[in-house]
Amino acid sequence: MAEWSGNESAEVPPPPDNDAGRFRKAFRALSDIVMPPVCLICRAPIAGHDTLCARCWRDIDFIRPPLCDRLGLPLPYATGGTMISAAAAADPPPYDRARAVASYAGSMRTLVHALKFHDRHDVRRLLGKWLVEAGRELVADAEIAVPVPLARRRLWTRRFNQAALLAGEGARLTGLRYEPLLLERVRATESQVGLTRGQRHRNVSGAFAVPSRREGSVAGRKILLVDDVITTGSTVGACARALRHAGAARVDVLALALVTDHALIPS
Ligand SMILES: [Zn+2]
Repeated sequence: MAEWSGNESAEVPPPPDNDAGRFRKAFRALSDIVMPPVCLICRAPIAGHDTLCARCWRDIDFIRPPLCDRLGLPLPYATGGTMISAAAAADPPPYDRARAVASYAGSMRTLVHALKFHDRHDVRRLLGKWLVEAGRELVADAEIAVPVPLARRRLWTRRFNQAALLAGEGARLTGLRYEPLLLERVRATESQVGLTRGQRHRNVSGAFAVPSRREGSVAGRKILLVDDVITTGSTVGACARALRHAGAARVDVLALALVTDHALIPS
């Protein structure tokens, strides 16, 4: 293929990428006139598309290190090296590591709802970007992105699975293989809302399985399990057990939001 000389009057035409790039630029400039960029939450005018205004951005409690290596919970101070919280030491989770973008509060809560109930594509793009940023270490050690499956009944009423949207977006951005069918719900579960920690655990225990025809795709593999919110970790824990049972080499969990104030969950 001829090289593009960078001179517009040269005989060699620019590669198609350049045309596409120019078209995208022109289209964006045009769409900025037709639809000026606004904050995804409060609709205040801002400089670029698919993001938040400064006020809504400040209302997100991003989870930053130092973190508990197993649960992904923020720790008060760094002691050097890998740190494990007292909670993880007392009751180790069935997955290797969990990470989340932010605490489940404020603007993050609003964005999760926008994704969950309205499938806002603009929201999906921003959340996907944040997700892969928060999960950089996990993505580096993973081969396959698998979403927590939604109950069939809920899939019917809501018509899409927000965890699958996130896992798909994460895989697209990182090059991980996206496998939405490696896990199945094998029995119906109640909604986890309002349940105590113990009830949540019992409600989802044994509710997930790897279908036998797909066990070969899981055995020996490093899996990145994706969900929207981690509350007590019961749901992702039950999924991780099923993946381990099918022989997964490691299971890490990546979510948008993490409930960091466990006093909010009845025990
Ligand atoms: Zn705003």
